[in-house]
Amino acid sequence: MKKKLLLHTCCAPCSTHSVKELQDQYDVTMYFYNPNIHPYGEYVRRLDGAEKVKQELSVPLEEGAYDVEWWLEMIQGFENEPEGGRRCDICYSVRLKQAAKYAKENGFDLFTTTMTLSEHKDAAKINSIGERFAKKFGISWVHSDFKKRDGFLNSTRMSKEMGLYRQSYCGCFYSVRSSIASPKE
Ligand code: SF4
Repeated sequence: MKKKLLLHTCCAPCSTHSVKELQDQYDVTMYFYNPNIHPYGEYVRRLDGAEKVKQELSVPLEEGAYDVEWWLEMIQGFENEPEGGRRCDICYSVRLKQAAKYAKENGFDLFTTTMTLSEHKDAAKINSIGERFAKKFGISWVHSDFKKRDGFLNSTRMSKEMGLYRQSYCGCFYSVRSSIASPKE
C-alpha cells in the first residue's frame, strides 16, 4: 500500500508535473492553502485551475481557509521586502506550517509542496522550512526540487495541454506591484 502524501499546491501549473512525479510512489492529495493570493478573484481563478488538475490527473483536492487577514498580520513590517526576501520566507512558513498541521490531523504520512517547481523560488530554503514544520508536527517531509529533470518545461507543456490559466505574478499584492515594474513573462 502506498503512503499518503499531502501536496501543498500553490497553483495548477506547478501541480501538474509535481503530481506526476509523486503519483507512482505515493497516494497523493493536493492541498490548496494560499491566503497570500490577491485579489480574491485571482484566488478563485487559481483554485479553478487546481480543480481542473484534479479532474485530469484523478487526484483528490482539499481547500484550506482563505485566511488573508492572518497572512497580512504575519507579514506585517516586511511588506516592502524584495521578492525572495523575508516577506517570502514568512509566506512559505505560513503555508507550510498549515500544511503540516492539516497533514498530521488528517492521517497523512508525509507532506511536501509544489512551490519548488518555480524558477523564482529557492528550493533549499523551502525544503529547510518544510523540514522544520515536519519535526514540529511529527510528520515526514519529502525533499523536492521539482524544477529539476525539465520539471518546469514539463509543467509548461502539461498546462498548455490542459488549457490551464498561467498567472503573471507570484500571488500577493506586493508581487503584483513588482511584476508591473519588471514583468516575468
Ligand atoms: S512574492 Fe510570492 S512568496 Fe513572496 S510573499 Fe508574495 S506571494 Fe508570498
